[in-house]
Amino acid sequence: MTTTSAAADGNLFIVAAPSGAGKSSLIRALLERHNDGSMQVSVSCTTRAPRPGEIDGEHYHFLDVATFQRKIEANEFYEWAKVFDNYYGTSRKVIEDTLKRGIDVFLDIDWQGARQVREAYPQAQSIFIMPPSLAVLEQRLRSRGQDSDDVIRGRMAKAQAEMSHYHEFDYLLVNDDFNETLTNFEHIVLARRHRMALQQSRHATKLKDLLANDG
Ligand code: GDP
Ligand code: ADP
Ligand code: 5GP
Repeated sequence: MTTTSAAADGNLFIVAAPSGAGKSSLIRALLERHNDGSMQVSVSCTTRAPRPGEIDGEHYHFLDVATFQRKIEANEFYEWAKVFDNYYGTSRKVIEDTLKRGIDVFLDIDWQGARQVREAYPQAQSIFIMPPSLAVLEQRLRSRGQDSDDVIRGRMAKAQAEMSHYHEFDYLLVNDDFNETLTNFEHIVLARRHRMALQQSRHATKLKDLLANDG
């Protein structure tokens, strides 16, 4: 006898942080720990230029401004925002199709996008990641070695504006020790997967069997 019933939708997680706090590394490491196809990160569209080593379609879909604006007009984005003078957006179709297949989806997006997603999809859970200090944040941006001094100065200047929205999120992680933060991040995701309504749907037959002929 099977123990699961009709597939439930996947969980949607929003992850935001000031640039350099470690959100991409944390999401990547979590996906490596759970490489069973049960979770995916959404690949955003952006008008920013690719960094050395970034691959189109893997890190981002790199678009020109005119193409991005056409997609805005065609309502192809689940959310979009202008961040650091570039456009960033999440494709609607990919998110909706992936969640329908029961796969959890991570959105690595800024606070403006997070607001739009919460409005469109109130079940989404949001996680904010803080660096341990401003000095460490700057050091991480430098050690990543992918942005010019000018770009790093710009990102540091905007870090506090991004961080000022932390209280709009459901969970807060301070990314000091990487492995400890990764474990806490994993706990948030796994707890969400075991909430009652979802478990009732996944294990409907088993629950029926367990409670049969009682009394
Ligand atoms: P990073 O901050 O070092 O990861 O640099 P990026 O240039 O990759 O991203 C800059 C900012 O844009 C970060 O705050 C991202 O979370 C945000 N961002 C990336 N993709 C999206 C998106 O699809 N929508 C929105 N709203 N923000 C995004
Ligand atoms: P974001 O996606 O938030 O911009 P990244 O994941 O690219 O940040 O991390 C920025 C840099 O900091 C990377 O070089 C990454 O390896 C490093 N990093 C991330 N988390 C930690 C941590 N807890 N301790 C030390 N270095 C870290
Ligand atoms: P378990 O029975 O241990 O809760 O989960 C069995 C399998 O289903 C594991 O591969 C786990 O990763 C996956 N899984 C459990 N809950 C969810 C969920 O809510 N969404 C998705 N996408 N996969 C889940």
